[in-house]
Amino acid sequence: MRQVTGARTSETFEGTYECRACGFEAPVLVYGSGRGSAAGWSHDSAEAALADASQDAGDVAAWTLAFVPCPRCGKRDPIARSYVITAVVLAILGGLGFGALFGVLVSCERLFDGGALELAVLTAATIAALAIFLAKARAFIGIRQRVAIDMARATGIPPATVVQA
Ligand SMILES: [Zn+2]
Repeated sequence: MRQVTGARTSETFEGTYECRACGFEAPVLVYGSGRGSAAGWSHDSAEAALADASQDAGDVAAWTLAFVPCPRCGKRDPIARSYVITAVVLAILGGLGFGALFGVLVSCERLFDGGALELAVLTAATIAALAIFLAKARAFIGIRQRVAIDMARATGIPPATVVQA
């Protein structure tokens, strides 16, 4: 069997919320959860798995910001829409791929026949598609609980005119 170490983490990331529509900008805290894995069972594997999970949590947190409506103008980053479309497409393709693979495997083993086989393949495909979609959906689930925009330190200067030393 392949030796794999898995890890989970939940972290709070500090960033800047920027609205492209109106130029609103403010410091923000985003909470994200992540899962990771690494080959082997050593101490190094555990560290690598945790680093992988942390990276995953960071990705979730970064994407979450695209789904937060601007506190000033109420607009959302248009990229949020493409993220959801991509998640749906990946889930469908992943579900079909996994269903096909599962179908080939169980046909060879003759575990099911006729209608039972179709049902088993359909179930496997649905579960795989849901798992893929839910992993992606972590970016836009529970936004209110996971995002805190520091309104006291908000500025309205469009990002392009801010000079950073
Ligand atoms: Zn705005």
